[in-house]
Amino acid sequence: MDPMKADNLIIGAGIIGLQLARKLQQDGQSVILIDQQAPGMGCSYGNAGILAFEEIIPLARSETLMALPQMMLDGLSPLSLNKRAIMANAPWFMKFTLAAKRKQVIRGTRTLANMMMAGTKSWHNTIENEGLSQHFKTNGLLRVFESNDQFYSEEGDRNTQQLEGVELDLLNPDEVRALNPHLTRTIKHGVLYKNSMHCLNPLAVSQQLFQNFMLAGGTFVKAPVSGFDKNPDNGAHYRFRALMDGPAGLLAPSNRMEKWNVAETDQFITDHLTQLNQDIGIIAQNLIITAGRASDSLLAPFGVSLPLMSERGYHQMLNGQHLDGFDIPISSAERGFLTTPMANGIRLAGTVEFTRPAFPPYWNRAALLGKQVTDLFPDLKIMDQPEQWFGDRPTLPDYLPALGAIPHHKGLFVATGHQHLGLTLSAVSADLMLGLIKQDAAPFELSALDPMRYS
Ligand SMILES: Cc1cc2nc3c(=O)[nH]c(=O)nc-3n(C[C@H](O)[C@H](O)[C@H](O)COP(=O)(O)OP(=O)(O)OC[C@H]3O[C@@H](n4cnc5c(N)ncnc54)[C@H](O)[C@@H]3O)c2cc1C
Repeated sequence: MDPMKADNLIIGAGIIGLQLARKLQQDGQSVILIDQQAPGMGCSYGNAGILAFEEIIPLARSETLMALPQMMLDGLSPLSLNKRAIMANAPWFMKFTLAAKRKQVIRGTRTLANMMMAGTKSWHNTIENEGLSQHFKTNGLLRVFESNDQFYSEEGDRNTQQLEGVELDLLNPDEVRALNPHLTRTIKHGVLYKNSMHCLNPLAVSQQLFQNFMLAGGTFVKAPVSGFDKNPDNGAHYRFRALMDGPAGLLAPSNRMEKWNVAETDQFITDHLTQLNQDIGIIAQNLIITAGRASDSLLAPFGVSLPLMSERGYHQMLNGQHLDGFDIPISSAERGFLTTPMANGIRLAGTVEFTRPAFPPYWNRAALLGKQVTDLFPDLKIMDQPEQWFGDRPTLPDYLPALGAIPHHKGLFVATGHQHLGLTLSAVSADLMLGLIKQDAAPFELSALDPMRYS
């Protein structure tokens, strides 16, 4: 069989890879997308669904460092961290400390603020162009505070946000309860971020993007990628060949897909996959790594050092639960998790655990979300066996993504490190990556996102 050929080969069909695949197609370029599982089933599956355009200050900063000792002692803390985790990840925490210096934070804030501003517009375009409007609500995000201390400690952040154009309203307890009558009466303050949005089903968004990708002539290969050959045809045209680590299945473009129900994507893929010989050639001019937390090992053979941490988070999905008048997602400042009204029920998502991809989940962290939410919303009922999930956020020590070209390897690119903000930043990251691939002038300074900054 002749090798499969495309302009671009993307490894990883999470929200980052899917958005980029669509932008490349819209630019008239061909794309082969490879993932070892069905699209959208990695970290992009279970997030809190917030387009958090107000999050312009990187989490690597002195306030986070100063809060760590207290969090380490508090059993209910949203952050799970102990001495062993710090010792095991000492080099990462050293880099994190350096990134928390004032000068670095200012630079990171400038970059994120630019990304959020462009990203708001970019998401609105994506929603329109990809037919995604039924999956999003534009009700904003309500951050609630149970203590004066926490509320006033975030005053500096709010000033920075407002200086960068983030629109917010400060609310008293009555105003908070008018927006959500189910909240506990212990809420002392609220901040309404008016431009934030939320998604009613993050998986459905990935699946819709994937369906659009296939209908536009894309090719999907379901297989684990173990590495790459460079210059498979002596550099004449195609520069990269993907090597598989196990059985591969091909989903080729097909007219039958017009009848494809997006909600049945997994089944559709299973029914229509053609098994491929393991050594089938898949070759492309550009190779783009969007493999989330796994991107580091795929890039290491090219001399790229990406210190990605698995910043594990959990969710509990209260399927079938809806509360009247609960239309705005709630972010609890002290408890560090989000409660999002979604299409199928209410999702509780958040917490942070520094770990490694292979480590088994610590389901008590997901159960903790259930305990916390009933304190916040006394009307909510936690079911006996709620859907529980964990995902590994791909996080670099400076809490900024890595976007761009890898020097000395023409045609090699990466887009990863989107930490807590991958859904939010996916549309703008795809726009920026398209520009970087085409070598267009950047819309703003991108040096803070240089993928070689740790190499
Ligand atoms: C609890 C929680 C809540 C969150 N809430 C929000 C939120 O409200 N808003 C927000 O913006 N962000 C949120 N996030 C963050 C967001 O989910 C991530 O930043 C985002 O999903 C990362 O997307 P990705 O495409 O980089 O990675 P992924 O979705 O993990 O995709 C990577 C893909 O690469 C594939 N892959 C990896 N290695 C290989 C290989 N060798 N061969 C083939 N395929 C491979 C994987 O199978 C996977 O499908 C949250 C995260 C968590 C954990």
